Amino acid sequence: MLPTSQIEISKRALENNLRFLKEQMGPDVCISSVVKGHAYGHTIEKFVPLAEACGMSHFSVFDASEAYEVKKAASNPETEVMIMGMIDNNQLEWAIENEVAFFTFDLERLENALAAARRVKRPALVHIELETGMNRTGFDSYQLPEVAHLLKSYPEELKFEGLCTHFAGAESIGNYLRVKNQRKAFNHLYKWFKNQGLTPRLRHTACSAAAMRYPPTRLDMVRIGIMQYGFWPSRETFIDFSIRSGQQNDPLERLVAWKSKVMDIKRVKTGEYVGYGSSYLANEVMDIATVPVGYAHGFSRSLSNLGRVLIHGKRVAVIGMVNMNVIIVDVSQLDSLERGTEVVIIGKQGDMELSVSSFGEFSEQVNYELLTRLPLNIPRKVVE
Ligand SMILES: *Cc1c(COP(=O)(O)O)cnc(C)c1O
Repeated sequence: MLPTSQIEISKRALENNLRFLKEQMGPDVCISSVVKGHAYGHTIEKFVPLAEACGMSHFSVFDASEAYEVKKAASNPETEVMIMGMIDNNQLEWAIENEVAFFTFDLERLENALAAARRVKRPALVHIELETGMNRTGFDSYQLPEVAHLLKSYPEELKFEGLCTHFAGAESIGNYLRVKNQRKAFNHLYKWFKNQGLTPRLRHTACSAAAMRYPPTRLDMVRIGIMQYGFWPSRETFIDFSIRSGQQNDPLERLVAWKSKVMDIKRVKTGEYVGYGSSYLANEVMDIATVPVGYAHGFSRSLSNLGRVLIHGKRVAVIGMVNMNVIIVDVSQLDSLERGTEVVIIGKQGDMELSVSSFGEFSEQVNYELLTRLPLNIPRKVVE
């Protein structure tokens, strides 16, 4: 069956973003590609092989089922996978057998990992997550002697793969002090481990915002999500970069473009209502086009009479209510429009671009949420 719209993922844009990120991070910092949340809406199935083709070989996910998807999608035997959040006890053996690394933030998981490693007769690749001030997950310092004891006692079963933490909002200067205290706490605890004779293979703390704003947080590895997809973690992060680098243009390119086609065209007489109910009245003779995308496809009803799409390189307005499968747009300003003409819902056309955030300003969602909410029932297609 032919879909009524599709989401294109640009390889060139990913290459561009990774080149920029590598340049910024320098040659000694490993970049882990964060692909939780269906690779921020791009889908693991399509994104991971693409990222591998662009030279990426470390991927971070939230849970074991996502790790499984990455394993399935990856083709490079060297590719590493790390679970940053949820793994059930009954998934530990699978992870260990498949060399999937995982965060541990409580003693029970660490002990279960030890037991599973013994059963499987292979080492568990554990990252010790530290509580440094976010107060989400992470070992508290009083638990660390026990952690160190386990790591020292069972070096064959528990491989000290990483020492890590996560910052509570590095994308906003308002959190500066909190992040600074977290950095101090992390460095202090890292030294504590070293004094115990325990050195992790990788120290990692930074997400996109921290990696850009606070270079000392890069350490051995950075966990980059949103920026590889072409978005800044916040406007503030871009402004900060722009001031520091003297660069006005956004060096990132968005991978995603959501496209459909004109389904039908017609002329409406003055004084007629358009679509359901009376939310839009034609004040003059106008030409309208229907586009086969509606709220069932993730085009929010809150964009009724507000949304914009691109046709012939021009922004045209959604008029009337967003229907389940259709929107109606005002194309009076366009000449010689035909059925089948490309409609861009998110992405570029000619000199114009509708970014996910412009889509979001109307419906008040941030890029992270908008991307992960791009409906999975729309096929993704990798384009050059
Ligand atoms: C999501 C996530 C990241 C990546 O964050 P971005 O802002 O998208 O770069 C890094 N670390 C952890 C623990 C995360 O959950």
